[in-house]
Amino acid sequence: MCGIAGAFNVKNASYIVSLMLKAIQHRGQGGAGITSEANRKQFDVRGLGLVDEVFRHTDFERELPGLNAIGHVRYATTGDAASMENVQPFVALTPYGKVALAHNGNLTNCQVILSDLSMSGRSAGTVCDTELLLRLLACSAGGDWAFRLKRAFGIAEGAYSIVLLAENGTCIAAADPYGFRPLSWVPYEGGYLIASETCAFDIFHPQADAVSIKPGTIVEFRPNEAPHETLFARRTYTRFCSFEGVYFSRPDSMIFDRWVYDIQTQLAIALARRHPTRTDFVVPVPDSSNDYALAYAQAVGIPFRFALIRNHYTGRTFITPGQVARELGVRMKQNARRRAVEGRSLTVVDDSIVRGTTSKKITALLRDAGAREVHMRIPCPPVCASCHWGIATHDRDLLIAARLTVPEMACELGLDSLEFLPLDDFRNALGDPDGTRFCYSCFTGEPPVAEHALPCPDAAGCADTET
Ligand code: AMP
Repeated sequence: MCGIAGAFNVKNASYIVSLMLKAIQHRGQGGAGITSEANRKQFDVRGLGLVDEVFRHTDFERELPGLNAIGHVRYATTGDAASMENVQPFVALTPYGKVALAHNGNLTNCQVILSDLSMSGRSAGTVCDTELLLRLLACSAGGDWAFRLKRAFGIAEGAYSIVLLAENGTCIAAADPYGFRPLSWVPYEGGYLIASETCAFDIFHPQADAVSIKPGTIVEFRPNEAPHETLFARRTYTRFCSFEGVYFSRPDSMIFDRWVYDIQTQLAIALARRHPTRTDFVVPVPDSSNDYALAYAQAVGIPFRFALIRNHYTGRTFITPGQVARELGVRMKQNARRRAVEGRSLTVVDDSIVRGTTSKKITALLRDAGAREVHMRIPCPPVCASCHWGIATHDRDLLIAARLTVPEMACELGLDSLEFLPLDDFRNALGDPDGTRFCYSCFTGEPPVAEHALPCPDAAGCADTET
């Protein structure tokens, strides 16, 4: 997924960005970086691992000075997760000076960009999609940074929410014409803060005031002026990622102008109506399904109980690269409380099933701890298709729902019963009954975008993708 943040015309900008990155650490744990600007010079610190690990010894005033800074937390999808080269913000030296860019999303036309760049005599080599975006920007001519960005966006397709910081102090945030990934800003002490999720603002400014960056819009932040907004896309479609509300974003964030908590509560109520159960307890898979399970339990009138205890010192399992590491990660992360489950029938509510790794382990844990029956309820439809717009599900064969029917999945996962929220109910609960505001492609396999904007069938040459 990745998360991005920026602080423009703000004292201690880089330190504030580091705190915002920490707040959105759940969006990526592979690496973190910050670029700042002071007196028309850029400064960078970046590294592999968590924000705390990367900036543990950073002297922010000395190493990342200035009133402007942008940052990134990385969630590696493909490519070398352990490579420093892939840690953003990326910086390019251009005829107009240095420019730094942090990106959340996936470009879907890397091949087209590559051949455009090589036709114009600019070899791109084998690089990741964010670097291609930066190269497009670096070879756009004329105007100012907003103008050149607009030209680069005219060629790039797919999902891109970005923050940009140029050596001359230009500060920009922008979102693609579909607005796949969330990005918002708030005013702060005469300047502005920008972040993928509004939970990053709360310690500085009430997030309820956050303004979402509209699809297809470039927002330039200048000192002592209101943000300057330009619509760059000829057409905008609005296809917010529905999975952001299901799993990625924190429940205390507001995304696409709605509280994630409200979205999750509505989904859980719809699930309870469609697929109620009669068990002794409803249990969550902490932490990402706590709100769902509580709302589901209240709606069906069954007691809620914590049957699994989460170890908070292990990372998010899905984000751990490699299947073996992921399986051990699940085992390390959750432990069953025998005392709470022995001889009981349980309804486990989890936010989603992707590969099935988590659900299989959890079902086995609960049974080993003596649970009599284990039923599972999921507040979204089965994830049966790859996402090319920023969620790490490129390999369709790994998706359990792409291989098996729901009853087969229940059997494979060792469950007494398994039910998902059907697509129609899901769209209604999101307040999108005709399915025109959100992207549902991971649940339907149908592309969310116009035909010309489909991903390149063969991503060869595009070595890595950042989300
Ligand atoms: P899996 O174990 O592969 O079925 O992954 C599902 C679990 O990982 C769920 O319990 C979610 O909490 C979490 N999850 C679901 N989708 C994603 C995703 N795209 N990226 C990271 N984590 C996810």
